[in-house]
Amino acid sequence: MSSVLLKNIGTIVSGDITAPILGGNAIIIEGGKIQKVGNESELNVSDPDVTIDCASTTVTPGLFDSHCHVVLGDYTPRQKQTGFLESEVHGGVTTFISAGEVHLPGRPKDPAGTKALAILAAKSFANFRPGGAKVVGGAVILEKGLTEKDFEEMANEGVRTVGEIGLGSVKNPEDAAPMVKWAKACGMTIMMHTGGTSIPGSSTVTAEMVIQTAPDIVSHINGGPTAVALDEVKRLVTETDLALEMVHCGNPKIMVEAANLCVELNSLDRIIIGNDAPSGTGVVPLGILRVIAHLASLSSIKPEEAICMATGNTARVHKLSRGIIAEGLEADLVIMDAPMGSVGEDALSAIEAGDVPGVAMVLVDGEIVVSKSRNTPPPVRKPVVR
Ligand SMILES: [Zn+2]
Repeated sequence: MSSVLLKNIGTIVSGDITAPILGGNAIIIEGGKIQKVGNESELNVSDPDVTIDCASTTVTPGLFDSHCHVVLGDYTPRQKQTGFLESEVHGGVTTFISAGEVHLPGRPKDPAGTKALAILAAKSFANFRPGGAKVVGGAVILEKGLTEKDFEEMANEGVRTVGEIGLGSVKNPEDAAPMVKWAKACGMTIMMHTGGTSIPGSSTVTAEMVIQTAPDIVSHINGGPTAVALDEVKRLVTETDLALEMVHCGNPKIMVEAANLCVELNSLDRIIIGNDAPSGTGVVPLGILRVIAHLASLSSIKPEEAICMATGNTARVHKLSRGIIAEGLEADLVIMDAPMGSVGEDALSAIEAGDVPGVAMVLVDGEIVVSKSRNTPPPVRKPVVR
């Protein structure tokens, strides 16, 4: 397995919200995993296969899109586009979490078909890396008639997630809560649509319904796209310890108000970031970077904290061994800098000024999958591969 040295790093954002910035200027990768982080002079580097001179840019963990409505392959029937996942990798995303394959034309709603779709999507995405990125696919939509045994079977076949509760026929807490218990017992992570009805056929979900159902994640606390009222947001922040997702295709005003509330209540470790696309809003290749820039420029969240929300926080909620720059974890990384023409002098100050940073390089498991983003503005400084 090959070794990679990243040197001359200007800033390392850890992905760990309890210590967002790491000291040091170098990262060593061995066999796709992060081996060491620190100052190059102290790391005992022995002739790596690949050296990337980062030219004083910023290195972050690969970003997560915590809310992606994949179906199969890199195609969305919702907006009839191919390559939307690969396009998002050019916006720094290296892990996509399915929120439910709800856009499959003719999606079956009986237990056998529902189960089959979740298992097929989980197994298909386990073998398929669009643009090099990892997709956690196969998020089962809760439909009436699913049994405890069905959840055990799905978990054994690789289904890790319950897609947004509220998209299927199981809508009320009385119906959903028992299934949530079965899913949790199998180690699944559970998402729940929150807020107004998204598309015809889905339903409006209130804070009270979320509290009674007890999922793991309040999906789009800022609406997908219609948000709950601010006092409902307050209930979800203060009366639960659930993960709080903020999405691009939601309500920007409630996002900022919810973010400031989380700062006040010391709950930044609960925020995760998603696109909620493909959806009626479209596909948004730079959505995760844009939410990071929105939070860091319009709320009191710092840019490095916003990056941790889209990396380590999401990885923790979904129990994935990446999203933090630390020894032994998967080496999914983004190299970024201020975009040309920004008032910011580096990636973090550009983000704080509200600009989307320039993505210079993306690595997955230590392999370069993007060497120049076709979607962000060009970065001022560019890493060089030796
Ligand atoms: Zn939703």
